[in-house]
Amino acid sequence: MHDRPVDQRIHDFAEVDGGYSPDEAMLESARCLQCKKPVCIRGCPVNIDIPAFIREIAAGDFKKAATILKEQNMLPAICGRVCPQEVQCEGECILKNKERPIAIGSLERFVADWERVHGMVLPHKKTPSGRRVAVVGAGPAGLTAAAELARLGHHVTLFESLHAAGGVLMYGIPAFRLPKEIVKAEIEAVLSLGVDLKLNHLVGRSITTKELLNFDAVFLGTGAGLPYFMGLPGENLPGVYSANEFLTRVNLMHADRFPVFDTPVKKGSRVVVAGGGNVAMDAARVARRLGGKVTLVYRRREEDLPAREAEVARAKEEGIEFVMCANPVQVLGDQVMTGVECVRMNMCELDSSGRPEPAPVSGSEFTIDADVFIAAIGQGPNPLLIGELPELKRGKRGNVIVDEDCRTSLRKVYAGGDVATGAATVILAMGAAKRAAHAMDRMLRDE
Ligand code: FAD
Ligand code: SF4
Repeated sequence: MHDRPVDQRIHDFAEVDGGYSPDEAMLESARCLQCKKPVCIRGCPVNIDIPAFIREIAAGDFKKAATILKEQNMLPAICGRVCPQEVQCEGECILKNKERPIAIGSLERFVADWERVHGMVLPHKKTPSGRRVAVVGAGPAGLTAAAELARLGHHVTLFESLHAAGGVLMYGIPAFRLPKEIVKAEIEAVLSLGVDLKLNHLVGRSITTKELLNFDAVFLGTGAGLPYFMGLPGENLPGVYSANEFLTRVNLMHADRFPVFDTPVKKGSRVVVAGGGNVAMDAARVARRLGGKVTLVYRRREEDLPAREAEVARAKEEGIEFVMCANPVQVLGDQVMTGVECVRMNMCELDSSGRPEPAPVSGSEFTIDADVFIAAIGQGPNPLLIGELPELKRGKRGNVIVDEDCRTSLRKVYAGGDVATGAATVILAMGAAKRAAHAMDRMLRDE
């Protein structure tokens, strides 16, 4: 992969990672051992025939490679870019113990990008079943469920509350990691399977739950868009954002180009981001591109950072300062925010997961001057729709409880993705949506 030089990329939102050329893709594909029992496939939640598509790249038949990918995955250009392959398919590749695993994600991205330029490939579809299915939420879970159900012959109506489909792919992950024209192109491919997309439809408000339950089956893919705050003194001061709000303003509402676009955002000259996941990295790197000097504060050690290693490295290259084993305790200021008080954390005791449990060190408080503070400490399921369905069993954190087929406690209602797991990953959401679609299909045909 070829990253754009740092001094260029910190001034714009164009994609950082350049991707493979055809020659590079063929060269990388030729390394694949074409294992008789390919273990990489078990690391792929949507079950792509990995050796088969890699074999076609090596042979130079990129269209055939795209056809193989599309049989299992309608969002390959997206997955090739944002999937944590290092812990999924590449984490299983037997070559990881010898040299390095096959770059499966980069190859998937290469094929999908080639396909977009040379004509989209569509998987085959079954004959119409006459059954009507509602899918709520057009994030990766909803898009995958909709595509799979349409392929299985059902008439799918996909409801999305926002004015654009894509969920976190559109409003959360910044364009320098996932260009929006790529998301739009893959959504168009899903819609061309016959999915009827209804934007600006907030289910539970503009569509009632009674109307929703009139469908023959329902899939809930409403995600985990409810941001958590830290409950700190001063958290209501202007200049304090949840990462969700900050990223939505910039990615979806184009606040970086205010007043050309209506939505403003405070462009901090000194920004503190709290958190250590992908969301925190994205918020920090966006704030950097808005011109800020950015400090990321994380309560555990560097090796505990949950974000992808490559994105941590890129954030560092872009000049984000990392302060580890520290936690914000107060947002300072009066009317206007002036800084963030933090405390050092000691990492001695192990918690139930075996990770060291951070504990504040008394008297170790220090201040970071800042005019913007972004909390990126996690988010939970949006309660709006699921709160309107009291029969739906929910877990402690508000997530919808499902069985292995993604069946909920409500008859003919299925759920998958972040609304069931809590904040997780694109590919886990897609894997759950595929399982749900096939279980829904069995239920609809048995009835
Ligand atoms: P979402 O993507 O949240 O989609 C839910 C959709 O439902 C939204 O469009 C929402 O508007 C809609 N909706 C909600 N309620 C209603 C309603 N009542 N009516 C109609 N529509 C409704 N994962 C990775 O794998 N790799 C990454 O690099 C990565 N980076 C991330 C960066 C950020 C900033 C964030 C926030 C997340 C990141 N993730 C990443 C996590 C990943 O994006 C999510 O796990 C994934 O998007 C979950 O998909 P989903 O379809 O369940 O939910
Ligand atoms: Fe190729 Fe690695 Fe999969 Fe084997 S495990 S088929 S070498 S990608």
